Amino acid sequence: NKRADCPPDSEELGRATWTFLHTTAAYYPERPTPSQRANMLTLLRSLPVLYPCTHCADDFGEDVKLNAPNVSGRAGLSRWLCERHNEVNKKLGKEQFDCAKTDERWKDGPADGSCD
Ligand code: FAD
Repeated sequence: NKRADCPPDSEELGRATWTFLHTTAAYYPERPTPSQRANMLTLLRSLPVLYPCTHCADDFGEDVKLNAPNVSGRAGLSRWLCERHNEVNKKLGKEQFDCAKTDERWKDGPADGSCD
């Protein structure tokens, strides 16, 4: 096992980035202001340019070109991001995530309170 203070490899970076993106989407306003929408678009459109895994960034950019970001509100953004993450899961041969469970995974936790 690697020490916690080693630089992240692409898997650790991926997990951290998805954690940030899904959590940010989970707390994005139901009715964002024009400024919040514009900033979210900028954040998402920055990833294909800046994400420090070039082939990841390139493929993500192609996917975002085909599927324009939905920044209209919390629910739409969370679903859009879940679908983009599932595209990466598919490419990597990972399981598809059930997008109906996005809030449970990233905001509310399971109903049995086991994450409280
Ligand atoms: P991750 O895929 O990191 O997921 C973390 C957790 O999110 C999971 O445990 C699960 O609870 C939850 N989750 C899974 N799917 C979803 C979903 N659809 N919606 C909501 N929650 C979900 N790696 C490569 O090798 N090649 C690439 O081309 C590549 N492209 C990437 C592009 C982007 C934009 C990002 C952010 C990452 C990319 N990665 C890529 C990294 C890759 O997606 C994983 O993060 C990494 O392989 C670690 O996977 P993991 O199995 O730990 O779970």
